[in-house]
Amino acid sequence: MKNDCPGTKDSRIAHSSRKAAKPMKTIELIVPCFNESDVLEMFYNEVTPVMQSLGNVDYSFIFVNDGSSDNTLKILKSFAEKDSRVKYISFSRNFGKEAAMLAGLKNSTADFVGILDADLQHSPALIPEMFRAVTEEGFDVAAAKRSDRKGENGLKSFLSDMFYKVANRLTEVEIDPGAQDFRIMKRKVVLSILSMAEHNRFTKGIFSFVGFKTKWFSHENRERAAGNTKWSLFKLLRYAFDGILGFSNSPLRLPLWSGVLFSAVGFVYLLVYIIGNLSAGMSSVHLVLSVLLLLGGLILVSLGIIGEYIARIYTEVKNRPVYIIDETNI
Ligand code: UDP
Ligand code: MG
Repeated sequence: MKNDCPGTKDSRIAHSSRKAAKPMKTIELIVPCFNESDVLEMFYNEVTPVMQSLGNVDYSFIFVNDGSSDNTLKILKSFAEKDSRVKYISFSRNFGKEAAMLAGLKNSTADFVGILDADLQHSPALIPEMFRAVTEEGFDVAAAKRSDRKGENGLKSFLSDMFYKVANRLTEVEIDPGAQDFRIMKRKVVLSILSMAEHNRFTKGIFSFVGFKTKWFSHENRERAAGNTKWSLFKLLRYAFDGILGFSNSPLRLPLWSGVLFSAVGFVYLLVYIIGNLSAGMSSVHLVLSVLLLLGGLILVSLGIIGEYIARIYTEVKNRPVYIIDETNI
């Protein structure tokens, strides 16, 4: 008789040892870094004990150096030398945070994957609670949103509010104005994010598009621990544009609807002209000029919008890589 029959002593031992050998949960934290040498040491020292406090969990970091011109890469290499849990990917130039997050996700292999900023604005103290939500409470995503905008530039807050209003009205996805990239996800969520192959990546829209059962964690806006924000107004505007054009076709319909409106106005105007034979004192030159300017502007705006979409189609068709890796220890 084979000794692995159910109920035999050997099989019970085999069973219990299989139980004991239950694989450890694995988690990787993706940290995009662009000129963060002022804060990296602080980040590593603050996040490491938090990860250790998770207990029986195999954690590691995936730092993505997004073409920094300071000592970021050097610091990351020194972390990797003393700590085998530190992995890094270094880009050949600055490709942007979206590309850095994508590189991290593509190179991740753990059951759970987190994303957080290097500047400690994403409170590491939230990680244990977030981790519990995806490991024990049946959620697929634990995501953070800020409950206030303390310490943020007034103009930035105003523009960002406007952006979310417009984006939520025009696009097919709903984005919470406070939602951050700070989150922990199950592997299946990562795979679904990676299945979205677009090059113009607007990750906040992608997170919302893929869905999944999400638990939200509100936290107060923290000031950057050190260094400066890496977002210029221009970068933010481009980001907003990418967000709306990437998830909405409504701007393409603008020429159609404004065309309909102007035709209607023109028609009514013609009717009024014919019926009333236009009162003698009205200067038709000004009228014609203003209508011309208005229509000309409208046509240019419409062409511009179409141009933006074509530019994006062009980028997608060229199929260029979203980032280029210079070196990595993965
Ligand atoms: N970041 C990046 N590439 C960039 C810009 C920013 O990897 O081109 C990283 C940056 O190092 C930080 C995170 O993205 O870890 C958020 O950037 P930042 O704190 O400057 O943005 P803010 O918090 O001001 O919106
Ligand atoms: Mg920041």
